[in-house]
Formats: sequence, C-alpha cells, structure tokens
Amino acid sequence: MTRVLLLGGTTEASQMARALAKAEVDAVFSYAGRTAAPIGQPLPTRIGGFGGVDGLVGYLRTERITHIIDATHPFAAQMSANAVDASQMAQVPLIVLQRAPWQAGPGDNWHSVPDIAAAVSALPEAKSRVFLAIGKQNLTAFAAKPQHQYLLRLVDPPEEPLPLPDVSIVIARGPFGADEDERLMTEHRITHLVAKNAGGSGAEAKLIAARALHLPVILIDRPALADRQETDSVDRVMEWLGHAGTERGV
Ligand code: NAP
Repeated sequence: MTRVLLLGGTTEASQMARALAKAEVDAVFSYAGRTAAPIGQPLPTRIGGFGGVDGLVGYLRTERITHIIDATHPFAAQMSANAVDASQMAQVPLIVLQRAPWQAGPGDNWHSVPDIAAAVSALPEAKSRVFLAIGKQNLTAFAAKPQHQYLLRLVDPPEEPLPLPDVSIVIARGPFGADEDERLMTEHRITHLVAKNAGGSGAEAKLIAARALHLPVILIDRPALADRQETDSVDRVMEWLGHAGTERGV
C-alpha cells in the first residue's frame, strides 16, 4: 500500500496536498510548526520536527511510509538534507517538488549573492531603507549594519525583541500582488530589497514592484543540496507515485 509523507510549508505543498486528497492517496502532511496558525490541509496533518535524521527514519518505519515528497521551501536546507539521508537509510524513495529559481529580466537591477552574510556585505554603508523580505530567521546577521531602517513582513508578530534597532513590521501572509508590494515599498520609501531566490509566483510580487520602482535587489542564491530527483510539476509527482507504486498500487 502506498503511504506518502508530504513535507510542506509552501504553496506548492498545498497544491500537492489537494492533488493527493483528490486522488484519495493515503498521505500525511508535515509542517515544521513555524507559524502559529498554519493553513488547513485536506490531508491528515502532523506538526513539528522529527528529531533529525534518526527521528525521521523512525517515523518512516513506524508510519509505514512508502514515498517521501519534499515540497519544503528551497531554503529549508536542513529538512531537505535530512530527507535525503533518511530516504537512503530507510530505503524509501524521495522526490522533490520545487519551483524553478527566478531569472533576471529586462529592467531588473539584481545583485546575486551566495548567502545571508554576503547579502549583509552587499548593503551600502550609507543609511538606507531596506525591505528585508527574508522572513523571521537570519535577522541577526543584519545587526552588523544597524544604520539602516529595515522593513520586515512576517506571518506572525515577533515573540522576542528583534536584533535590529530601527525596524518596521508588517504582519501579512502571502501570496501578495505586485501593486500591493509597490504601494508598500513606496509608502516606506524603500531604497533596497533583500530577498531569497525562492522562485514561484506567490512571492514574486516584490521583485516586480522593485523593477517598476527601479530599485536594486540583493537576491540570495539557494543553498546547494545533494542531487535529488526534482520536478516543479504536481502532475509529474502523481505520475511518479503511480509508476513507483505500480506493484503496491496507488
Ligand atoms: P530547516 O532549517 O530546513 O529545518 C530545521 C528543522 O525544522 C528540521 O531539521 C526539522 O526538524 C524541522 N522541519 C523543517 N521543515 C519541516 C517539515 N515540513 N515538517 C517537519 N519538520 C520540519 O527549515 P526552515 O528553513 O526552518 O523552514 C521551516 C519550514 O518553513 C519548512 O517546512 C519550510 O518549507 C517553511 N518555509 C521556509 C522558508 C525559508 O526561507 N527557510 C520560507 C517559507 C517557508 P527535525 O530535524 O527535528 O526533524
């Protein structure tokens, strides 16, 4: 019998969950538990870490998981690396559902950087107004440039004081529209955008807005991960399940 573990936390994971539910595939949706009220899913849902690779291997065995779909965010490198290791250790096949990275087009003024530290270095020394569109993690690194006024957009209000001295916070959950983001960036007189190259349409609005406003974008590249079977198509994952599950039935 096929039984899927879907590692979620993205728009793509929610799309995948709908397809699995529609096809009546036995599946469990897994959230890390980073947001206070995660979006409801049409699948049985578990919340919280597994306890590293060993914990995940134990979970796969206990729950008799036959297939893993890693639809986590392209920057969720730890979870994705654990999924690769656990897949090998427990002999459970893994596929990655992930959107393609964004590519600069005409009118874009993008500076690609390899990681958070390089993004901090790429910001100017002169006081600027920075839309730091990277979520709530990794903010501490930007304390090295405390002269800037930072704008953050978060899903939940922060529970602890932020490490940045001059910060405005907008509480909102995407997807966002380009007009909406242009308004936000104009209102806050933003001079620089810092973002992760997540790809996909749900988070692209800020880049479209930056293009319209002729703003420089410091775009953080995705972390490198082991070679994995990857696709950006929910249908392709369904085929993979059908193909891989022929002997056991889907
Ligand atoms: P991470 O650094 O790769 O993961 C850290 C730990 O969190 C993992 O080792 C695992 O704990 C747990 N974890 C992460 N994703 C999980 C999942 N789907 N189900 C169960 N446990 C999970 O991940 P992150 O960057 O903190 O991201 C956390 C979640 O937020 C992910 O699910 C991701 O899809 C979503 N997200 C991340 C970003 C981003 O920019 N990083 C943006 C949007 C959404 P154990 O080792 O204990 O198993």
